[in-house]
Amino acid sequence: MWYVINSERWEREQESLNAIGVTFTVDEGAKAAGYIRLQVSVTPDSSILEIPGRFLPLELTIVYPGTFPFFRPDVYAPDISLPRHHNPVEKNLCLLPRQTSHWLPETTIGEYLTEQLAKVLRAGEIVAAEILQANDEEQGEPVSEYYPSTANAPVLIDTDGFDSLPASEKEVDYLGSFSAGFPPQANLPSRIWALECFDANQNSLGKLPQNIHHAFPTRTTGEVYRLAERPPNVDAAKDYAWLLELIKQNKVPFIKPKSSLALKKGDTINQIIGVSFPEEHSPGKYSWGWLFIIGFTHHQSKTVNKKIVLVPVKGFYYAKANRINMSELGFRIQSLKPLRNKTVAIFGLGALGGSSAIELAKNGTSVLRLIDFDTVGGGTIVRWPLGVSAAGMYKTDALAKFISENYPYTQVYPLLYRVGASEVGPSATPPAGVSSEAFMDAVLDGASMIYDATAETGASHFLSEEAKKRGIHFVSVYATPGVWGGAAMRVVPASTKGCWMCFQYALKDGLIPSPPVNRDANIQAVGCGDISFVGTSFELDNIVSAGVRLAASTLCSPEDGYQELNGDIGILSLVDELGNHIFPKWSAHHLDTHPACPYCNPQI
Ligand SMILES: [Zn+2]
Repeated sequence: MWYVINSERWEREQESLNAIGVTFTVDEGAKAAGYIRLQVSVTPDSSILEIPGRFLPLELTIVYPGTFPFFRPDVYAPDISLPRHHNPVEKNLCLLPRQTSHWLPETTIGEYLTEQLAKVLRAGEIVAAEILQANDEEQGEPVSEYYPSTANAPVLIDTDGFDSLPASEKEVDYLGSFSAGFPPQANLPSRIWALECFDANQNSLGKLPQNIHHAFPTRTTGEVYRLAERPPNVDAAKDYAWLLELIKQNKVPFIKPKSSLALKKGDTINQIIGVSFPEEHSPGKYSWGWLFIIGFTHHQSKTVNKKIVLVPVKGFYYAKANRINMSELGFRIQSLKPLRNKTVAIFGLGALGGSSAIELAKNGTSVLRLIDFDTVGGGTIVRWPLGVSAAGMYKTDALAKFISENYPYTQVYPLLYRVGASEVGPSATPPAGVSSEAFMDAVLDGASMIYDATAETGASHFLSEEAKKRGIHFVSVYATPGVWGGAAMRVVPASTKGCWMCFQYALKDGLIPSPPVNRDANIQAVGCGDISFVGTSFELDNIVSAGVRLAASTLCSPEDGYQELNGDIGILSLVDELGNHIFPKWSAHHLDTHPACPYCNPQI
């Protein structure tokens, strides 16, 4: 307990309150339980200046966290109501912005109140949008955040469709409904996915990507109302009753649920009602805030006549909206918007290609075509992006499943194919449509880029020529044995002077430094026909990050998106000349034509 270990500080805290002329009492019950809670009276006699007289006397409750003085005490003002900087439910004051960096651990409570209390009481009364917007220290205070709810049971919803419906003057209006999906074997309370939203006439307002719908097979319907003001009671049961009355008074349609939805242990969801209302989202600016009132029946165990019986208890809880839509997804990565209309074909799905595929999906690439022939070895999960749940699956299928379930706005196509393998064996007749030309035509149709992570020189050579032939971008990544280093390189059609072969000659000549190689790093696992190498995922991830960054900049910079990098080739060293580990060191190079390259010098 901080006040025991640091009793001198506790003394100083009390002295600091005496020094500013406020009276206080220590809650001895709380103190016996290990916490410091103070009741403080600020009167006109105190030396805190500039508190508007109408607030005085002011009763405050001050609660110290167990982690004091690393973190600030909470200051509650239960008897007043400020429109801003004051939690309308818990009644704590926002004396400082939320980030912990604003609190200086040496500040005593007396200094804290002297410096901040008058300021926040005055600022908390300001609601004029132009004053709020002009103040850099202000931040938006969405009121829905203050409603009590179960943190891990929100409603995941794209609210754009409902939010764009025209506003009315009514106190309450019926907006429409949504198809509410639950994961299999859902408990109460559960996450709920608003799979598709409909207006009042059953016209679709939009739906979440179809490829995740199967993951939420248990379905019911939620109804949506728009309110002129937030629900007043901040209690789901009371606000439900209030809403019913409001609906009745305003003669708005009320859609009764047809039946309850059974979850595990006999619990049921009886009703789902979404309410949206104006709330501040940035200082002085308002948009639609959302809450959901969930009606449920929960079975509680009780002892009756020495027997344990399950007793149904009906109730309501508040669920918050967890918004998912394209604008929400793009908000943090606006410079990558051009990826939303790009198709990338990734060849090779080992530790580099597999992780790159997930990165490209995460960052919003529209279409990924994943090409590999291998399965996930149980022993390789130490550096493959997915763990043991994927072992034994084709790498293509494991990644396609993961991406479509987790990044559903990306369309992903798994394609089993080995670059360079002969189409037929020694005797059989070639089946139609399996030629390498036909495959490459299909897989690169409409593609913007080949992302080569085959780590096979022959395959890289072939793929670089395929990209050149088709006028599409080429990015290639590889690691050296032991992952002492690696490289990421690109060729932009009609812009990069050299080609992949020029890069090989430049490495051979030393015009571009070769990444360091650990000659002792090759290994062959038991029962595996291919040579592998020692090295970790966190070493390989340096190359993944650089490769994906190079791909993003190559695809986005021509459309004023993610900036160009300072070269076409990055060479990575993770060791110094003696093989000692160092922090990653990249050198950047331009890819020029090499005089010995037969492609770029046809006369050779
Ligand atoms: Zn060349």
